[in-house]
Amino acid sequence: MSEFNVQLNDGPAAVVTGPITVGEALKKLDRDLAKQALAARVDGHEVDLAFTLIEHQNGQPVRIEPVLPETLEGLDVLRHSTAHLLAAAVLDLFPGTKLGIGPALLDDPRYGFFYDVIAPQPLTEADLPIIEKRMRQIASRNLPYRRDEISKAEALRIFQERDEPLKRELIDEKAGETVSVYYIDNSPFIDFCLGPHVPNTNKLRAFKLLSLAGAYWKGDATQPQMQRIYGTAFFTQEQLDAWLKQREEAEKRDHRRLGKELDLFSIQEQYGQGLIFWHPKGAVVRQQMEDFLREELVKRNYSIVYTPHIAKRELWQISGHEQNYGDSMFAPTTLEETEFRLKPMNCPFHIAIYKSQQRSYRDLPQRYAEMGTVYRAELSGTLHGLMRVRGFTVDDAHLFCTPGQVRKEIDDCVDFAYQVLKTFGFEKIKFELSVKGSDTSKQWLGSEEEWAKAEAALAEALDARHIKYERIEGEAAFYGPKIDFKVEDAIGRLWQLGTVQWDFNFPERFELEYIAEDNKPHRPVMVHRALFGSIERFFGVLIEHYAGAFPLWLAPVQAAVLPITDRVNEYAQQVAAQLRIAGLRVETNLRGEKIGAKIRDAQMQKVPFMLVLGDREIEQGNVAVRERSKGDIGVMSLEEFKTMARRLVTTRALTNT
Ligand SMILES: [Zn+2]
Ligand SMILES: [Zn+2]
Repeated sequence: MSEFNVQLNDGPAAVVTGPITVGEALKKLDRDLAKQALAARVDGHEVDLAFTLIEHQNGQPVRIEPVLPETLEGLDVLRHSTAHLLAAAVLDLFPGTKLGIGPALLDDPRYGFFYDVIAPQPLTEADLPIIEKRMRQIASRNLPYRRDEISKAEALRIFQERDEPLKRELIDEKAGETVSVYYIDNSPFIDFCLGPHVPNTNKLRAFKLLSLAGAYWKGDATQPQMQRIYGTAFFTQEQLDAWLKQREEAEKRDHRRLGKELDLFSIQEQYGQGLIFWHPKGAVVRQQMEDFLREELVKRNYSIVYTPHIAKRELWQISGHEQNYGDSMFAPTTLEETEFRLKPMNCPFHIAIYKSQQRSYRDLPQRYAEMGTVYRAELSGTLHGLMRVRGFTVDDAHLFCTPGQVRKEIDDCVDFAYQVLKTFGFEKIKFELSVKGSDTSKQWLGSEEEWAKAEAALAEALDARHIKYERIEGEAAFYGPKIDFKVEDAIGRLWQLGTVQWDFNFPERFELEYIAEDNKPHRPVMVHRALFGSIERFFGVLIEHYAGAFPLWLAPVQAAVLPITDRVNEYAQQVAAQLRIAGLRVETNLRGEKIGAKIRDAQMQKVPFMLVLGDREIEQGNVAVRERSKGDIGVMSLEEFKTMARRLVTTRALTNT
């Protein structure tokens, strides 16, 4: 027995009598916090609440910080502890199951934790509710998580006895002299784990098992095949319910599903993963995106260029891509003893155009824009629909200007980005300014003075527009600071899109010059900028944002002409022809189906307008108009409909009114 001091964070202190656990000591410091705590940090180290405090020899107080709910650290402990609960339930239901690892996931929007298992009989989706029910039963018994420290040999013996070869392997590889193991008392589960965990299963109230997937032990295809059980956990049932609702909404909007249902695009694995086939309907949306952007580029005095998809290997050595980025590039291919590589970025090509002649200050700025298709050797495990692919097109531009011109160019880029994103219906845009700041952990190119100037110019462009932004220290590219834009979609998710980047590197590497007023060569400033970022990815975001119901100007089919009887088929074709002449994209459905089925079909395809035609419409030369979300909006003359539709298209209206 001894008395010593404990202190809460930097706050109140108390005298306690040892031996005493962290949980007990916390109670003396703050009863409320003690009740809420899931685990704690003692002198900076994460421990369980059952950890026994040791007094400091130098008489300094032992510092305790509770790990609380509603914090990321707390969520980590909660989800990891729930993974243990999952393993306990699986062992209880399926004795003989071999266990792998069971970490918490905090960055994955789809899941909160998983456990890898090999059950005696392979598990099916139907087992998940049964396992979840058993988890609830165990949780409600309020069993403590108990830690034990034993020798490595003892741990190996225990897991040998339990016939857990994978756990033995982990201990063999990772453990030191002593090993910490965790029990959930009165359950069949023991884990080799560092912890910490919640004090007892009662803390686990809001969890759900989500899905089952295949996995390999250690992620290695030569190792045993396992099943991965995914789940998630939150601090409250309300949080879990809200998350599940959001997930359901996200699933409905999943661009991979809608891409198939609306026949927009495909990925055909037999011809290569991560490569996008744009079907006619998806291609319409892309054309509209590109046409809009080209119109704007011309208004803003950009020059549109086209460049090759491959170049001699030397180019990528001069640019530094091969040295710094080689892992993401496709391997070289040889023709007549010359090596070529596919382009992972467009920048060096635009530089080549700039360098093709001597430039005077009078020629600047030069603004080169290209829908430039690039190829990246992404690993198959990281590919995801349109969001992460191996071949994609960037709405890329590179600006070459004098130091005196760059501020205005940045200003224009920010305005341009704003206008583009608003046109596509993104109201909430988040700007991030990534700067070097005082970070010294990376190799930064360029002088302190250059950085200060560039960072100030980017910040001023945002400040002058009263744009709120987050300043992120140390997140700049090694060659210069940048502004990134993220948009919030219809269900509140953030998507990273375009960027404006200042570049100190390429003008040096490629020895870019312009002849200034002093008749001497000077270095121009180079800015990279993309607004959509990847066109594929932007399309994916649009599909999910609109849930496939594109505004009229983007919609692959803008109007479906639906005759009620065969007698009206000819009139329907005339109506469609006239609308096409007016520049609208129209489909007719002349199949011998009931009108209800035709409407349903057009509705499923999310066609903005349906023109329903019967005998009465022929007589009067009218169309009866339905709008996909409003239903019947009345009978009007074909001329009136045409005028309305054209107005909506030319103004790029976001709603059909
Ligand atoms: Zn654990
Ligand atoms: Zn670039």
